[in-house]
This record gives sequence, C-alpha cells and structure tokens, in this order.
Amino acid sequence: MKKISKSLIASILLLVMITWACTKVPITGRRQLTGVIGSEQIIGMSADAYKQVLDSIPLSNNQEQVAMIKRVGTKIQKAVEKYLTDNGSASLLDGFNWEFNLIDNDSTVNAWAMPGGKVAFYTGILPICKDDLGVAVVMGHEVAHAVAKHGQERMNQNYAKQIGLSIGAIALGQDPTVSQQMVFRAVGIGTDLALLKYSRTHESEADELGLTFMAIAGYDPSEAPKFWERMSAGSSGQAPPEFMSTHPSHETRINRLNAALPKALEYYEASGK
Ligand SMILES: [Zn+2]
Repeated sequence: MKKISKSLIASILLLVMITWACTKVPITGRRQLTGVIGSEQIIGMSADAYKQVLDSIPLSNNQEQVAMIKRVGTKIQKAVEKYLTDNGSASLLDGFNWEFNLIDNDSTVNAWAMPGGKVAFYTGILPICKDDLGVAVVMGHEVAHAVAKHGQERMNQNYAKQIGLSIGAIALGQDPTVSQQMVFRAVGIGTDLALLKYSRTHESEADELGLTFMAIAGYDPSEAPKFWERMSAGSSGQAPPEFMSTHPSHETRINRLNAALPKALEYYEASGK
C-alpha cells in the first residue's frame, strides 16, 4: 500500500514535469517534450558531436557538389528564418548555428541533421537527388528535423523515462545509485547524436514541414514524391541504410506527400518563383 502511494506520487511528479516542459511544433502544432534537458545544452552537445564526426571522416573535395549542398541549405535556412519570424516563432531558432557539409562516402545513401542546425549529406545520396531540386527535398526534410527539435524531443523522452525509473526505484527504497546511473546515461546520450533513430511520427512531420520549407524557399515541392519514387527504384529489394529503414514505407510516404502537396504548392506560388 505504502509502495503504491509512493510510486503514484513519483508518476504524478513526472507527469507535472513533462507537462511543464512541453512545447509546440510549428506548422503541425503537435505538442512535444523538449524542456527537461534544456535546448541550449543539447545544442552545445550536438555542436561538439558534429565537429567530432567531421574531424573523423573525409569530406568531399568536389567543389561543385559541396557548393550545391551549401547553396540549397542556406536558401532553405533563410526561408525558414523568414517564415518563423513572420509567425512570431523566431525564438525556436535560438542558439542555432547552421552548417551544411558533404561527406565523401559514395556507398552511403543518407543525410542527417543534429540539433542546432548541423546538417550532413553523404555523396551516396546525390545520384538520387540529381540536382538542386532533389537536394532541396532531402534538405527540407533534414532542416525540418532540426527546426521541429526532434533530437531534443527524443533525448528528453529518454531522460524522462530514466528519471521516472529512478524516482520510482528510490521511492521503493531500492539502490540510490540508480540516480547516478541516470546521469551517466544522460551524458552517454551525447555520444550517438547522429545515430538517433527517428520515430514514424517524426519522419512524417519532417516530410510535411520539409515540403513547406522547400516551397517557401522557391523549390517546386512536387519534386518530393518524384524523389521518393527514384529512391524506391534505387533501393530495389535490399534493406537500405538508416535513412530508409527508419522512414515510413515508400508507398505510404509518397501517398502522404501527394496529399500534402496542394497546400505546399500555395507556398510555392507565393514565393514568386
Ligand atoms: Zn528523417
């Protein structure tokens, strides 16, 4: 009886903490947990991790392709900044320091974004992108992950789970070193920022936001379903790397993108392109 009431109190405390730490994703309006570990702290950890990654692997020497990644990235960055400023949400980008780099690795069909706007493409995805427009599809999606703070959300969820376990364990009179382990785990989170597996919710949200962001930047969003059709054809049968395995099926994704297209096309028309 006593045990039950203590774990109940722990659960209520956790719930209060989670409610207090929730924020809203722009455009989709989904509520998310981002404020237990501060965004500022996570952005700092991510900047370090990004530098470590770039220092440990070769970057592309192809000046044209490097310039394409930076050009498309900067264009979408500016569009997002303008959009969020116009909508009174510029503070979402506090602490951001955007970087767009191209990793020299032809066998990896992937791209990712860390919290704070640290984006990387692998040269292996460029044959599917083909040009600026194709890069804009992937870039919009990756920028969206960063802007919607999916990395922060995932880390906060993990952290809250650990806090919940620890409070529960302490309340039940178990080993108090659990709280210490919790801190170690929290620090450990910083080591695999680039490998964060996004949920389907995050993927669909990044698709929707990405479509809007590329359109505002003046890239025709109707390229997005075409890009995923090329990706689908290129990955015939074999389970491709992370970029694919963590994402929804091609068919689901293409259907959803087509459904979201009319709204994105309005942004595209308004962009004056
Ligand atoms: Zn994604």
